[in-house]
Amino acid sequence: MTGPEYSEEALERGRRLFSGPCTFMLGVVSADALPAEAGAEIAFAGRSNVGKSSLLNALAGRKNLARASNTPGRTQEINFFDLGGVLRLVDLPGYGYAQAARKDASRWSRLTRDFMRGRAALRRTCLLIDSRHGLKPADLDVMSTLDSAAASYQIVLTKTDKIKPDALAALIEETSAAIARRPAAHPAIIATSAVTAAGIAELRAELAAIAER
Ligand code: GDP
Repeated sequence: MTGPEYSEEALERGRRLFSGPCTFMLGVVSADALPAEAGAEIAFAGRSNVGKSSLLNALAGRKNLARASNTPGRTQEINFFDLGGVLRLVDLPGYGYAQAARKDASRWSRLTRDFMRGRAALRRTCLLIDSRHGLKPADLDVMSTLDSAAASYQIVLTKTDKIKPDALAALIEETSAAIARRPAAHPAIIATSAVTAAGIAELRAELAAIAER
């Protein structure tokens, strides 16, 4: 076992939550268009190509939930999805795409900071990390943004089907050490694959527990 463990009840609550209808609400490009807060929100962030759309689709059990741009780094839009009227999933724009890195990073942090500032509804941000690459400088920048916004975040490893179990265990250990002193980082790391569905039930359970709080 490489990640946190969940009881049957917790897994079942996660399954039930994500079996509800998941519908696209709206996409916003500036803070003045953000929807009023209602209920709990969970955000998803990660470098372009990290597998964020695939993970959202796997969580929701859909083929094409996330409105993804085909050009990495192009979409600077926050997309809101309603999950059964209980939880909102917030798809933050991808960051760190090399070609537009600088401009991208400043726009990313402005829009997300605007979003996170005083957003009581936002319970946690899942920070997606490609398990083949581990934490990159752009991820550390984003972690610093989240730490300074006191916005709780949790590392979710993606594409774990691409690495061997030993490498995964080492990555989890390494990543745990790297986040240990970060004030807004949740200590538990969840390892997922959208291809094998590894960790998907566990992530659903984690998010259901947050939504119930
Ligand atoms: P996004 O840009 O973060 O939304 O990333 P996508 O979900 O579009 O995925 C980027 C690429 O990684 C695509 O080619 C996906 O097929 C691939 N991918 C995403 N998730 C996984 C996974 O869990 N395992 C593997 N092997 N490939 C994945």
